[in-house]
Amino acid sequence: MQSQAHTGSYYAATVNKVTDYAPLQGAHRADVCVIGAGFTGISTALHLAERGYNVHVVEANRVGWGASGRNGGQIIGGISGEAEMIRKNGEDCRELLWDMRWAGHDIIRERVRTYDIDCDLKFGYLDVAIKDRHLRDLDAEHERLAAHNFPFEYRMLSKEETHETIGTKAYIGSLMNMGNGHLHPLNMCIGEATAAVKQGATIYEQSPVLRIEKGNRPEVITEQGSVSADFVVIAGNAYHALEKKLRGIMLPVSSFIMATEPLSEELIGLINPKDLAVCDPNYVLEYFRLSADKRLLFGGRCKYYGSDPDVIQKNLRPRMTKIYPVLKNTKIDFAWGGTIGVPINRVPQLGRVSPNVFYCQGYSGHGVNVTHLAGQIMADAVAGTCERFDIFAGVKSLVVPGVHTFGKPMVALGMLYYQIKDRL
Ligand SMILES: Cc1cc2nc3c(=O)[nH]c(=O)nc-3n(C[C@H](O)[C@H](O)[C@H](O)COP(=O)(O)OP(=O)(O)OC[C@H]3O[C@@H](n4cnc5c(N)ncnc54)[C@H](O)[C@@H]3O)c2cc1C
Repeated sequence: MQSQAHTGSYYAATVNKVTDYAPLQGAHRADVCVIGAGFTGISTALHLAERGYNVHVVEANRVGWGASGRNGGQIIGGISGEAEMIRKNGEDCRELLWDMRWAGHDIIRERVRTYDIDCDLKFGYLDVAIKDRHLRDLDAEHERLAAHNFPFEYRMLSKEETHETIGTKAYIGSLMNMGNGHLHPLNMCIGEATAAVKQGATIYEQSPVLRIEKGNRPEVITEQGSVSADFVVIAGNAYHALEKKLRGIMLPVSSFIMATEPLSEELIGLINPKDLAVCDPNYVLEYFRLSADKRLLFGGRCKYYGSDPDVIQKNLRPRMTKIYPVLKNTKIDFAWGGTIGVPINRVPQLGRVSPNVFYCQGYSGHGVNVTHLAGQIMADAVAGTCERFDIFAGVKSLVVPGVHTFGKPMVALGMLYYQIKDRL
């Protein structure tokens, strides 16, 4: 496994600080060893370091190299698979789940404030509807927000109001929620890593973990070193191949983003003067928002597995100009992609592969907020408090048929299935 540099994204081009943590060399001991330095791994490490644990994080590439440093940066409300979790754990967990929906948002807000992380954090979000059934779902969400006295502004917008707010007639209505938001994910992840190190954590980059020797005191092995620890947390999500069992329970789905050149004030006034993040409800979805330097970051899923920016742009540009014909002559400066882990039942997968080796993965497209919650839950679990961990761990993960044997064709079939579902 060869270490890699960051993908050619807008985020990598505008990063505040280039990380350069030394690779793991020699034998080390820790209370907890975390594998993977994305949001899950870094969030877990920071929570643990704040509680006084000696934590070592081992990353194959760079901090935020995976989905965490490439994503749409949208802080979405909710956890995927909530209905399934309530079905399995009973009605008693409904209120706890409601609180968990927003816990990741609170952690992000709090960390940006406490550690002064410069990551363009902004609040303001629009969930848009394409079909009547989407409007019904948004109405139900609006009712839930009202029933819980949601503390931030939220409002249903008609088709006309949606058009006035984001300058497109592509949607039949929307739910505006000022409690959700957006940020520069790579700068957030690196800022949290810096905070974790200040709190006493150790991070190793360019150190692919080759295997975990399980036992009373598990050992994490790389080519040039090892960390033995009381606990190990596997946080490699869709990018690791350490435990075959964990790969077989998620569909690895590609998502792509492109960034336009910076837009004029006039264009911004037409398409998004309130600086909201926007997302549609389809599985093969589209999402967009403005960056701090006023580019449109436009993302979506497509049937492509490579990383060629020209192909990505060719796929996404017609979708962007269908929503915003006014951008037909706008230049695209960056295009990139990444992999999302999608469990069949959509329930994030938190569990153990052995008594002291935990894992945490599979957030579907809701990783920015849920990884932050997950890091806190993993830290709780290491400390012996498993109330929230058990709500996730209690739901059996379903094996994705053929994912090992058929690989990409299997994923293509999965995408086709969901595309058909979107059309119904
Ligand atoms: C294009 C795209 C757009 C997205 N948009 C959004 C969005 O707008 N909002 C949202 O909420 N979610 C979004 N997501 C999902 C979200 O980014 C992920 O759910 C989240 O970042 C997962 O974080 P993670 O830390 O678990 O995994 P990752 O960020 O993928 O990190 C895993 C890390 O583990 C490391 N690793 C793997 N194997 C090993 C090994 N053997 N040894 C050491 N290290 C290893 C990898 O190098 C990587 O750095 C998007 C994802 C993509 C790809």
